[in-house]
Amino acid sequence: MAKKVTAFLILLSMLAALLSGCRKNTRYSVDYYDVFDTFSTFTCYGLEEEAFDRIQKELHQLLLSFHQETDIYHTYEDVHSLKELNDQAGNGAISLSRRQYDFLLFCKNAYTLSEGRVNVMLGAVTRLWHEARERAGEGEKHVVPSKDVLEEAFAHTSPDLLELDEDLLQASITDPLASIDVGALAKGYAGSLAMDYLASQGVENYLLNLGGNVCAHGKPLGTGRDAFLIGLQSPNEPDGSYSQTVTLEKGCAVTSGDYQRFFEEDGIRYNHIIDPDTLYPAALHRSVTVLAEDPAIADLLSTALFLMDTQRGQALAASFDAEVIYQD
Ligand code: AMP
Ligand code: MG
Repeated sequence: MAKKVTAFLILLSMLAALLSGCRKNTRYSVDYYDVFDTFSTFTCYGLEEEAFDRIQKELHQLLLSFHQETDIYHTYEDVHSLKELNDQAGNGAISLSRRQYDFLLFCKNAYTLSEGRVNVMLGAVTRLWHEARERAGEGEKHVVPSKDVLEEAFAHTSPDLLELDEDLLQASITDPLASIDVGALAKGYAGSLAMDYLASQGVENYLLNLGGNVCAHGKPLGTGRDAFLIGLQSPNEPDGSYSQTVTLEKGCAVTSGDYQRFFEEDGIRYNHIIDPDTLYPAALHRSVTVLAEDPAIADLLSTALFLMDTQRGQALAASFDAEVIYQD
């Protein structure tokens, strides 16, 4: 009898081990199409389906609400988006959530952190390039803004035109012709918020691809690999095969490239990252990928390094403990 009980207990414990093993190696994935005007994927390992479902819904909500809070193109009923800040330029302050305030403070500091390369108040200039890209997309032939028009706009781009009030949780732009453009920083900052949220839920093993900003944590359980492998796109074949792979255990890979958003005129490619000195798109690199622990820093650096020569870029990256991969 005792033998039978022991055999039964062994069988039970084997079954339990097998079951918990199965649970440990679960993999669930979900795509989001409505955050940051791009395609995002969240893949999680080692969670039960119910927990994954709850967490992915909360994560989606977090990304969606931050997307709305930082949107410069649309207004929303329940939040003051940054479009309202731009619409209100020269006309007083708008109220912010604490999260918006913190983000705008990070945006303001980005100017110094990037040695003057990333200036979110360059909106008057980046808007001209954005409009040119859209018109080129509609088939118009001569859309490149003239130097005069760019310089006129540049007169309204001082970082100091953005004023923040921490006590009142308010922001204002003090020049009616100035505007904010947070395109260089919002997705990365969203990645940081997402990683903080996932840490607060004890989620250990996941990959979050926010439109090409790839955040990784832990391991892809059940695959036999110790870390996530990320493919880097080749600037020459952005839709094709990867040019190389990098290993990511904890942290983020963010790329700024001239193939992401651009138009061509007279055989010249005009990308979407604007050199604040020339007011034209930067042409130093084809693509810059930054690997860093904090996605917000990785996003800031990828744009900044796209606008710097390699030597200066590598020094700046090193000061943040980040790695850089250039594809020129
Ligand atoms: P990213 O793809 O992260 O390098 O960000 C590029 C986006 O940042 C552009 O689409 C613009 O919206 C914005 N941007 C372009 N040039 C600058 C700049 N020099 N400083 C701040 N934002 C910029
Ligand atoms: Mg960036």
